[in-house]
Amino acid sequence: MTHTTKMTTAAGTPVADNQNSLTAGPRGPVLMQDYRLMEKMAHFNRERVPERVVHAKGAGAYGTLTVTKSLSRYTRAGLFAKAGNRCDMFARFSTVAGEMGSADTARDPRGFALKFYSEEGNWDLVGNNTPVFFVRDPLKFSDFIHSQKRDPATGLRDNTMQWDFWSLSPESLHQVTTLFSDRGIPATLRHMNGYSSHTYSLWNESGERFWVKWHFKTLQGNKTLTNDAAAVIAGKDLDFHRRDLHAAIERGDFPKWQVQVQIMPEAEAATYRIHPFDLTKVWPHRDYPLIDVGVMELNRNPGNYFAEVEQAAFEPGNMPPGMGASPDKMLQARLLSYPDAHRYRVGINYAALPVNKPHCPVNTYHRDGQTRFDGNDGGRVNYEPNSFNGPMEDLTLKEPPLKISGDADSYDHHEGNEDFSQAGDLYRLMSADQKAQLIGNLVSALALVPRDIQVRQLGHFYKADPDYGAGVASGLGIAVEAIAGKAA
Ligand code: NDP
Repeated sequence: MTHTTKMTTAAGTPVADNQNSLTAGPRGPVLMQDYRLMEKMAHFNRERVPERVVHAKGAGAYGTLTVTKSLSRYTRAGLFAKAGNRCDMFARFSTVAGEMGSADTARDPRGFALKFYSEEGNWDLVGNNTPVFFVRDPLKFSDFIHSQKRDPATGLRDNTMQWDFWSLSPESLHQVTTLFSDRGIPATLRHMNGYSSHTYSLWNESGERFWVKWHFKTLQGNKTLTNDAAAVIAGKDLDFHRRDLHAAIERGDFPKWQVQVQIMPEAEAATYRIHPFDLTKVWPHRDYPLIDVGVMELNRNPGNYFAEVEQAAFEPGNMPPGMGASPDKMLQARLLSYPDAHRYRVGINYAALPVNKPHCPVNTYHRDGQTRFDGNDGGRVNYEPNSFNGPMEDLTLKEPPLKISGDADSYDHHEGNEDFSQAGDLYRLMSADQKAQLIGNLVSALALVPRDIQVRQLGHFYKADPDYGAGVASGLGIAVEAIAGKAA
């Protein structure tokens, strides 16, 4: 072996011996003055940043978005001004509840986080492979996640905690039905859809606003794994999905997704029969048809997992002019909690790291902070307003005003928001085989849960569709009459 590069310390001084510590005699103790040993051990102790509380296990890749249809009628965002526009992007897919070393083939929603490096700044979408979510009020989010993580006494994951929370939170039923359906375990990350899930907004040059939901339909086709197949894979390879995505891109088999939108004019939100900002609901396609707007392709693997995937920081507030948020309570909370998590995990200057850095010029008045590793804007003026030609705001880019009204109160989020019909719609669109898989998956997950929790949850299945409730009840050996009465 020939090595042409000289090893150095972090300070660049050449290392004379990287095999033997400095000791007092060949059998003696290590000397305090062996600063190279100290540096090595100290750096090793600090190698990890805290893993994400949710979405800890992930896989990432770079790619491109190619716009196939102009959205200029709805948005002033330059990215969607005309068909043919292209933009570099980065995607990170993840499981939700498992830790960094957990199995890829767990039954769990998959995070579907996207960062588009547009010429007008980054546009981040922090979606899932499911169009809805378990809760609609962010006050319930940390309780929900605790119920899915580990029992505080045993350190074990516990089906009773999960079903206790779900059965007491019937707004979770639509997502629970999705999770335990065949699509609850994708065959690979390439064979699953992505959804913005939240409602976002678009606004155009004339100041008109539209509500929008984003869909990313896999062009590889939806493929799934049964519980049994997933368990066999997990026994052999915990990193099955990460490995598959990396290998596909290495061999030039670039996965693609059809990008689609559903668009609702602003005023229709007030009269639409479904609460358009409720994260537990979809907009049925017959009301708001899907419009093809582009194709997303993943075509380059990261060169360093930690730098690019572990430090990737997505935040739903990253939106170029022409795009905006919506009154969705869950989205509002995520606008705060995502950057807050990055500041804690990665540090205040996370946005300047190469994977997060916009591909357009960045001109802020932020300065200093831990790990400011670039030039910190040199001698450029660091306050505003100023007389020294510092960067200035542009009032022509102001989002149109959003009318809001109502008395401040803690409103019961179940009021006027039924939890069952869309879960029933999903059940009814499944084939006989998909229904059998759903019921089988639910029966095995509920089997060891206390009877009162089983019965409470069965009432929800029954309300979504009597056939659905009866199927799970029969699998658990519970008389359907017992739950029909409860459901009523
Ligand atoms: P549609 O018949 O127009 O659409 C059904 C949708 O369900 C399609 O997007 C299809 O996606 C998806 N789908 C099909 N099989 C499954 C499955 N086993 N698990 C999850 N999704 C599946 O009906 P609606 O728009 O009226 O929606 C009916 C139900 O479909 C909803 O209650 C919701 O549960 C589900 N759904 C609806 C979506 C929407 O945005 N309207 C999005 C995703 C699901 P694909 O083309 O990939 O097969």
